[in-house]
Amino acid sequence: MKDKSLNDFTSLGLPTLITDSLTAGGFTEPTKIQAQAIPKLLEGRDMMGIAQTGSGKTAAFGLPILAGLLELTGRPRPMTTRALILAPTRELAVQIDENIRKFAGSKMKLDTVLVLGGVSRYHQVQKIAKGVDVIVATPGRLKDLLDDNKIRLNETRWLVLDEADRMLDMGFIAPVRAIAKAIGLRRQTMLFSATMAAEVEDLAKSLLKEPIKVEAAPQGSTVVKIDQRVIMSGSKAKRGVLNDLLGDEAEGMERVIVFARTKHGADRVAKNLAIDGHDAAAIHGNKSQNARQAALKGFASGGVRILVATDIAARGIDVKDITHVVNYDLPDDPENYVHRIGRTGRNGASGIAITLCDGTEKSKLRDVERLIRRTLPVSGDLNLVEEAAAPRQQRSNAGAPGGARTARNPKSKNPRKFNTPRPGGERSKTGEGMPHSARPAGSKPAGAKSGKPRWNKGQRDAGRVRRASANA
Ligand code: AMP
Repeated sequence: MKDKSLNDFTSLGLPTLITDSLTAGGFTEPTKIQAQAIPKLLEGRDMMGIAQTGSGKTAAFGLPILAGLLELTGRPRPMTTRALILAPTRELAVQIDENIRKFAGSKMKLDTVLVLGGVSRYHQVQKIAKGVDVIVATPGRLKDLLDDNKIRLNETRWLVLDEADRMLDMGFIAPVRAIAKAIGLRRQTMLFSATMAAEVEDLAKSLLKEPIKVEAAPQGSTVVKIDQRVIMSGSKAKRGVLNDLLGDEAEGMERVIVFARTKHGADRVAKNLAIDGHDAAAIHGNKSQNARQAALKGFASGGVRILVATDIAARGIDVKDITHVVNYDLPDDPENYVHRIGRTGRNGASGIAITLCDGTEKSKLRDVERLIRRTLPVSGDLNLVEEAAAPRQQRSNAGAPGGARTARNPKSKNPRKFNTPRPGGERSKTGEGMPHSARPAGSKPAGAKSGKPRWNKGQRDAGRVRRASANA
């Protein structure tokens, strides 16, 4: 029988100082990627990891680095770092830094510095000048410091590229390659990516030596415990649908991330939520670093119930107990759907993901379903066609081909019939796509029978009255 008092991390070969600090932090059982990666990384192998935030990948690369640092004697030399971790966004970098320090615990002396763009470089340069154990950085700022001779990378023994796919998407390929080149070949390199796109493979081939390959979840898979559903809703009606969901006690939306496709959209949603009487903060690339951190802190501490985010800003956000992810808009890139919903249901906890889909977004929904290889349960009117998106002559019902005539298909006797076959017929064949529940129970559309878009102006006005009385 296994001795329950033994921390399972011990069997992976980690030193006691680290396993003790893990036990103190409540980490007793390695996640799958940790169990696979840690022993090999302790042997010094390079690694290619296909894993998303939530899989425990930070500890998978962080713990072997800490174990390696413990074996080194003396202080790091001035202007150098022993380990360098690159991440695409400031939020992810902050989180990695916090986690690494948490894993090290209070007994290990560890000098870390965050090297981020968008904030003054003065303190970063000051700290690096003394020499540090670990730098967690976004690539642009680190490359600037390298170009200005504020840092030397010749002493760096560990290089981690976290969310490499996102770094490439964000155009960081040149600084990443330049940084790797400056480090030289005497290094152990770990590259993590949520997907194995061709560009990631190219980068991995050029930077890694005979890497072990570790995959925490198959590509495009979504966490099984996340309860996913779709509500068809006209784009203008989404505000009201969200408002009703938030007000529905049975839904239990305690801590919610709402995703919008654009920065402007995120601002608008956050503004409308505030107008409708909800605590909401927005986080996206146009906000200052301080504003983003303040929004995240308010959300993580429970002071703010709803965080409205764009895809890039939300990457790597690790806030515990997020009960719901709401996709206010479908993402352009279906892979972002997987990243988005991964914010809830972390570490085996269950979570709920609700996608609001308007008539113009149906093809994006199909792309998502193809990627996750699942048909999502849909409520609302599948025949919904976005009025605003339809060309003028089609809106007048005048012989429009393809049935794109009105906001609702006039042939449909019951505009809220759920199992209407979709183009391609997936739902009718499989019998899936039936309503997840009777929801949106609280979002009965005013225009459901009339064929008008739901949540018309009158209802918004009613919302304003509710708000006014709440503010009184
Ligand atoms: P990551 O995928 O590295 O962003 O980790 C996601 C979350 O899981 C973080 O909050 C970690 O603190 C937590 N975590 C990582 N490893 C474990 C573990 N073995 N047991 C419990 N929680 C963990």
